[in-house]
Amino acid sequence: MLYQSTRGSMERQTAAQVIAQGLAGDGGLFVPESFPMMSEDDIIALSGVPYMGRAAYVMGLYLDDFNAKELGRFAGEAYSEPGFSHKDIAPLHRLDGKTHFLELWHGPTSAFKDMALQMLPRLLAASMRMTGETREVCVIVATSGDTGKAALEGFRDVPGTKVLVFYPRDGVSDVQKLQMVSQEGGNVGVVAVEGNFDDTQTGVKAIFSDERLRSELSARSCFLSSANSINWGRLVPQIVYYISAYCDLLAGGAIKPGEKVNFCVPTGNFGNILAGYYAERMGLPINKLICASNRNDSLASFFETGVYDKNRPFYTTSSPSMDILISSNLERLLFEMSGKDGKAVSGYMDALSSKGRYEIPAAMSREISRVFAGGRCSEDETMEAIADLHRGHDYLIDTHTAVAYKVLLDYRAGTGDETTSVVVSTASPFKFCGSVLEALGRQVSDDGVVMLDLLSEASGQPIPAPLAALKDKSPRFFESVAQEGMTDALSCFLRG
Ligand SMILES: *Cc1c(COP(=O)(O)O)cnc(C)c1O
Repeated sequence: MLYQSTRGSMERQTAAQVIAQGLAGDGGLFVPESFPMMSEDDIIALSGVPYMGRAAYVMGLYLDDFNAKELGRFAGEAYSEPGFSHKDIAPLHRLDGKTHFLELWHGPTSAFKDMALQMLPRLLAASMRMTGETREVCVIVATSGDTGKAALEGFRDVPGTKVLVFYPRDGVSDVQKLQMVSQEGGNVGVVAVEGNFDDTQTGVKAIFSDERLRSELSARSCFLSSANSINWGRLVPQIVYYISAYCDLLAGGAIKPGEKVNFCVPTGNFGNILAGYYAERMGLPINKLICASNRNDSLASFFETGVYDKNRPFYTTSSPSMDILISSNLERLLFEMSGKDGKAVSGYMDALSSKGRYEIPAAMSREISRVFAGGRCSEDETMEAIADLHRGHDYLIDTHTAVAYKVLLDYRAGTGDETTSVVVSTASPFKFCGSVLEALGRQVSDDGVVMLDLLSEASGQPIPAPLAALKDKSPRFFESVAQEGMTDALSCFLRG
């Protein structure tokens, strides 16, 4: 299987080459040339296999230049205890006959980013070996909160790698911040940026296109890579859990073979839901992929109007990992929906950077609407969704998952579509305890660690072990820079 750039101007490359590079040299994103297909029988067979076997199988279809046995070993290492605390790795929680929650937060950092970032370091190390890359890799991450910690944890003390995380100083929760600044490991760094997530991501993109920095790094036998969802090595492990959820519904008798399901996904950078789309292209019976936005609703508007417009106010919300106005991975969807037209994609992306907006043709919009629906959720509605589920079903969800749940209810009410649906649950409620306590009408505290206890008391549920361990950790990283200072911070980190 070979990969091409969404901007169309590059030669085809192998999976190992694209994972080692991260971003394509023409500014585009790497995408598979075609989609491997799964038959109904394949899916039925996978239903009898544990998560790690499903992961090895699905990844093997895309990473056919990798050694299959090695992929099996990676899956066994990445998706097991002590990193993952649940034996099913990505369990389904049944709410009622037609609504299920896919819990993707039983990993070491309590958010769904672990599903990919426990795997990516292994794929990257193997890709470097396969491509003869001997330089040290420095992984740069712009995070809205969860990717940063998951990347630090995934790459910590991995030989031949360094990892530097930039996070928006005022854009992450107390627990998220504490998780990052207390990170252990000899190859890690964490820097706060004065600004929001988009500023931070723009700063990281500037680092990647800084030629002087590149040659400085080269001289030091080092190169840059990315752990953001623009890297193919992060997307491919995410395809797995859509297929796995379907297998579990099948194995549990909730659906019949071939029956279609909906997935509703709390969306920011469009990486998670894009993986769902790839699963659909592989033959997984999906009726609708419902893209849920918070108040930062450029995606919801795009699905309604065919116009993507980032010229709108940026809101800091209780679901900070979705506080994003520029969803990078949408470019990959545009590529598929335009009939793999790299020129057209380049045009949209140029318009996005020069005018902050672009419009797609009506026919393409209609094509997208066959698979996708979009919706948005206000701050009050987010709080109500958490309170309602806790009161009515004794089920506790985080703010991001709450956005998706509310958008699913609205979608059902608006369309009458009663297809069995899976809400993709992306974080443990304990990661966002301040907002969740508020939703439950409980007292909050200005100390993140104290709030873990308060939420445990309020809900009667134990604090996830990795978060409980924060009580005994102290901060190691204090640096804060302006966006223009990010390059210097990187040079300093590499020298230090
Ligand atoms: C990253 C994240 C999201 C958004 O995922 P994308 O792949 O960026 O769309 C949603 N919820 C949580 C908890 C996250 O960490």
